[in-house]
Amino acid sequence: MSTVWDVVVVGAGTAGLPCAIFAAKRGAKVIVIEAADKIGGSLWLASGQISGTQTKLQAKRGIDDNPDKHFTDFMRINHGTGDHPFMKMFADNAGATVDWLQDIGWAPQDDHPAITYGHEIYTTPRTYWSKDGGIGLANALAPVFDAEVKKGNITLNLSTRMSELITNDQGGVAGVRVSANGNTEDIRGKNVVLTCGGYAASSELWGKFHQRPVRGHYWPHSQGDGLKVAMSLGADFKWGENFIPTFAGTSDPDAGDTKWINTVCVPQLRQPWEIYVNLNGERFLAEDNPSVDLRERALMKQPDMAFWSIYDEAAREKAPPLLFAWSKDKQDRAFATHADYKKGATLEDLAAATGLSAGALQHTVARYNQGQVVKSDAFGRQFMPQPIHKGPFYAVKHYAISVVSFGGVNTDLKCRVLRGNGQPIPNLYAAGEMVGFGRFGNAYLSGTSIGPAMTFGRLLGDQILVWNSNAAQAAE
Ligand SMILES: Cc1cc2nc3c(=O)[nH]c(=O)nc-3n(C[C@H](O)[C@H](O)[C@H](O)COP(=O)(O)OP(=O)(O)OC[C@H]3O[C@@H](n4cnc5c(N)ncnc54)[C@H](O)[C@@H]3O)c2cc1C
Repeated sequence: MSTVWDVVVVGAGTAGLPCAIFAAKRGAKVIVIEAADKIGGSLWLASGQISGTQTKLQAKRGIDDNPDKHFTDFMRINHGTGDHPFMKMFADNAGATVDWLQDIGWAPQDDHPAITYGHEIYTTPRTYWSKDGGIGLANALAPVFDAEVKKGNITLNLSTRMSELITNDQGGVAGVRVSANGNTEDIRGKNVVLTCGGYAASSELWGKFHQRPVRGHYWPHSQGDGLKVAMSLGADFKWGENFIPTFAGTSDPDAGDTKWINTVCVPQLRQPWEIYVNLNGERFLAEDNPSVDLRERALMKQPDMAFWSIYDEAAREKAPPLLFAWSKDKQDRAFATHADYKKGATLEDLAAATGLSAGALQHTVARYNQGQVVKSDAFGRQFMPQPIHKGPFYAVKHYAISVVSFGGVNTDLKCRVLRGNGQPIPNLYAAGEMVGFGRFGNAYLSGTSIGPAMTFGRLLGDQILVWNSNAAQAAE
């Protein structure tokens, strides 16, 4: 007779690794199915910010903080949206995740926890930026996971893709169908945990849920497979309406449409020497407005959620680099060949190259320049470096981008996947981006994707046998 595993974990990424580790430590026989040829998932790309309170690191620095303050910050930043009980549970348990990661060898940057600026800021230093980015987190998890594999508590099947859920006669989930090397196999389990990420890489699902193309930087296996199979059993799809883009990204000319990078559009890190001009040739905000939430919302209202960042030769010479991580050669190549990087001897030339109206662009620049001279800007901009008047002129097209998917399946606080009527689908669990980044509301909250993925993965792994046996008893 084929093995019936205690726990089948689909996806060896941010949520799946802690889930498998904790379930194995609790004595479960676990099998982990992973589509890629290595573990880690999105952690290979992530910058690695997590958040949490009352940690050993906060205590060491004498930072007075607690989960209620964390939750209050969530509410302030996301305007009271999102799934409050879920966010509260994360806030209550996030610090323990940070401590656990530190215990297993992970290190944040030296001066962290800190107030960080990529997203709207918290009131208290509680963001920890992984020293080696997301990879630092994956590297801390890997030895602990490998130890359980060596002990025989976890079996890992790499390069194996889950394509279907198997159900039993009572309508509960009884395993998964997978394919590897062209062969299909059924893997049976008492509990199936979907930790196979979101749909950030799926143009099909971005089109379906958001009526817009994918623009982002994402793990290629984030195709929404888990979402599709759960929804095929009636799982409730939620939170997609909370989509908001990050401000802002431009495509990497060396990576086509699969990689979008954030230029330094964060005034706290680099004051803008540029102006942002929408596709009508108009400015639409004070480029140095310190609220990233305000900038993101303003961008959402622009045609195609895009703008050109316009600057002149004087800014190129004097300003800190906009494309900070690129060599001169790469920048030259971008301006020579890529449709989103344009240069013109005059503003008229630049307008012709970008497709902007020459009249509108000249008018916008002239108005901005007047504001710079009299030190009073039409949009209230405070940073007044100099007018834009020395050719050649440059334009870099920026877009609303997203590295996460906002919609996901609804779950209860035990991570059980729920149908539209609120009833759990027996034996089916989900954690990580599968449950939607938008569950944290209509805003970006620092460290609330990796953190919840790991926290709910950890709690689920630790409790799944208990929760499932309680559920079975209740059903008897
Ligand atoms: C560039 C970038 C920067 C980011 N920075 C941050 C940050 O600083 N802080 C933060 O909180 N969040 C950040 N995020 C988001 C965060 O990394 C993800 O939301 C989170 O890691 C998702 O965790 P997960 O476990 O749901 O998915 P993943 O970590 O992607 O794991 C899912 C796993 O499932 C596998 N899989 C997929 N489909 C199948 C299938 N059918 N069968 C088997 N296996 C499958 C995948 O290969 C993958 O290994 C960032 C994301 C990106 C892309």
